[in-house]
Amino acid sequence: MDKPRTHKNVVIIGAGMAGLTAALYAGRMNFSVLVLENGIVGGQIANATGIENYPGFTKVSGSELIGNLQAQAENFGAVIDEFDPIQKVRLNATPKIIETDENIYEADVVIIATGMTRRRLPLAESGKYENKGVHYCELCDGHMYQDKTIAVVGGGNAAVDAANFLTKYAKRLYLIHRSQLRADEVSRQRLKENDKAEILLDTEIEALHGDGRLESIDVLNKATGETSTLSVDGIFVNIGVEPNTALFAEELGIGGGRILAGEDCRTKIPGVFAAGDIREKEIRQLTTAASDGTTAALLAEKYINGLKGGNPSW
Ligand SMILES: Cc1cc2nc3c(=O)[nH]c(=O)nc-3n(C[C@H](O)[C@H](O)[C@H](O)COP(=O)(O)OP(=O)(O)OC[C@H]3O[C@@H](n4cnc5c(N)ncnc54)[C@H](O)[C@@H]3O)c2cc1C
Repeated sequence: MDKPRTHKNVVIIGAGMAGLTAALYAGRMNFSVLVLENGIVGGQIANATGIENYPGFTKVSGSELIGNLQAQAENFGAVIDEFDPIQKVRLNATPKIIETDENIYEADVVIIATGMTRRRLPLAESGKYENKGVHYCELCDGHMYQDKTIAVVGGGNAAVDAANFLTKYAKRLYLIHRSQLRADEVSRQRLKENDKAEILLDTEIEALHGDGRLESIDVLNKATGETSTLSVDGIFVNIGVEPNTALFAEELGIGGGRILAGEDCRTKIPGVFAAGDIREKEIRQLTTAASDGTTAALLAEKYINGLKGGNPSW
């Protein structure tokens, strides 16, 4: 059976801070707005417990901030769909085409706000244990490891903060990093002072073992050349993030980085904007993501008005 075909003024890909802000602004302009999300609404910040630098809030959780923003966007008519993954897009077409599992959407404007996701552990067998001992979200899955042995992989602030957080569940925690820690002194010191934690530096995971679920890992001490086996119930990987560009890489000519677009969020394809962490820029924060969402939606209006008048400016 043919998929239903629907026209939208604005299709936004990704429901993080940037995408939801764009949805709020575009909805307020009376455009038909669809937001497609293939993970959890809120993106990177969805599970954060205490955000202390979002203007207007002394301290707010990610779920409260995002919950309010989602309600605000929906109040102005934006539709958020989390259950219909995108198969492919044709951004150079007129109108632009977004084909999902169940629908074909035509759009005047596409706003790409797909942000970043955590880099996967570079071991062939890691996919086999994903969510069966190998995890990428301590805030989502940490509670499963009450009184268990956990390893955190990584050496930056995010990894050390994750390790500090997970000590509240773990009976024993290893922080494993291939070189020296880059995290700030306060976080490092906190972990060092925790009796449950052991920090293994110059150490790499070489193999994962387990019958269906992760049971142990082989680690190589690069200083001594010795390999040993650690019994662990779970590992949390925090070795950096990667931009979510796979869907657009070909049409936008993206090598491995983020999408090239200026402060006006315009990409090289007319009617296609990039907003938030997915855009190549120096500062990536909630406020800059919200700013990009605003800019993209307001300039989308200009573009759509131009289309109506037969004279789209770009
Ligand atoms: C642990 C952590 C703590 C942070 N704390 C702070 C803080 O305190 N203050 C601050 O200002 N910033 C903080 N940041 C940074 C901030 O979270 C980001 O700058 C901001 O969330 C970026 O928003 P975004 O909308 O651009 O991207 P994201 O939040 O990454 O959202 C992108 C969304 O797009 C979705 N998506 C991806 N690909 C697809 C696809 N193909 N189809 C559909 N949907 C897709 C994703 O699932 C996600 O929901 C923190 C980041 C992290 C990781």
